[in-house]
Amino acid sequence: MLRMAEPIIHHRHPEFRAIFKRVNANLKYLFQTEQPVVTLACSGTGGVESTFVSLFSPGDTVVAVNGGKFGERWVNMPRTFGLQAVEVKTEWGKAPSEGQIVAALRSHPDAKAVYLVHSETSTGTATDIKTLAQVIRGNSKALVCVDGITAIGAHEMRFDDWGIDVCVTGSQKGLMIPPGLAFVALSARALEAMEHSTLPKFYLDLRKAVRSHQADDTPWTPAISLVIGVDAALEMIRAEGIENIWKRHERLARALRKGIEALGMKLFSDSPSFAVTPVWLPEKIEWKRFNGLIKEKYGITIAGGQEQYAGKIFRVSHLGYYDELDMMSVLSALEMALADCGYNFDLGAGLRAAETYFATC
Ligand SMILES: *Cc1c(COP(=O)(O)O)cnc(C)c1O
Repeated sequence: MLRMAEPIIHHRHPEFRAIFKRVNANLKYLFQTEQPVVTLACSGTGGVESTFVSLFSPGDTVVAVNGGKFGERWVNMPRTFGLQAVEVKTEWGKAPSEGQIVAALRSHPDAKAVYLVHSETSTGTATDIKTLAQVIRGNSKALVCVDGITAIGAHEMRFDDWGIDVCVTGSQKGLMIPPGLAFVALSARALEAMEHSTLPKFYLDLRKAVRSHQADDTPWTPAISLVIGVDAALEMIRAEGIENIWKRHERLARALRKGIEALGMKLFSDSPSFAVTPVWLPEKIEWKRFNGLIKEKYGITIAGGQEQYAGKIFRVSHLGYYDELDMMSVLSALEMALADCGYNFDLGAGLRAAETYFATC
């Protein structure tokens, strides 16, 4: 990652071109696709915006699943651009069902796309993209569009085999580098839709991005240091193997959940993500004090709940460069902070449960 601190090279220089070519090939591997995956200089939200403005025209209908803060964003964003957004709402912590998607498509047969959040970070909830993609394709001509921003690099994603049309991720999540890049994978159907889109766009025009991408180039100055950083991250991902990475995330998530349950705490999500684990804060434990202890005394960062769950749940991340001992550290910090707060439990039970899981699974 220190490669990002090296002197800048010019983006038209062959040295940069060679790096970008490798990045483009490795991104295809990451998404498991033969289709183009374009790199944009913006955060993940900009990547999703590029898809709305580049694929659709004013008045088009899109279905978007809102099961948390990010899903909510993908309902509001298309409305900003004059698209009709049909909201499919799920309770926080619950994944959308096949029935909900089918019903939305039945009542809106003209829907041009369905937007799904693979791993809803605000609720730590995973959506079964493989199954829902089949459902969408079986019931409509709508494009299957996926916010993969915390899922890529944690959850299985087979863009081509599963018939996904659009998948977006960002540099600061599973790709483990600072924020500033978005990556957008586009199917042949998505590329075709771009040809008919009339919404105004300029900087985030995917048609321009795809055209440049064919020559391993970008329409505008790329975020050179970040591209160099992601090159190193993608080489790490190649070396470990994408399937091993999916398995590692699942294993860490499952062990952590075992540990948390052994402490008598309850998991928040019905369909838990492998990238982030949300947990109900036990009654009588005050979030500010608990979080302060974990951060200041034990040196571990966790996140609180958002909106109506602020002060009620906490979230533990395990996306990216994490291993077994990281899970043991976080469980240990949770146990010690719980003990400091006077929570009544069997000290060491969480660590034992997680270690047992690691030793046997
Ligand atoms: C982080 C995140 C985003 C937003 O990405 P930014 O990089 O903050 O723009 C969108 N969706 C999900 C699921 C995320 O976790």
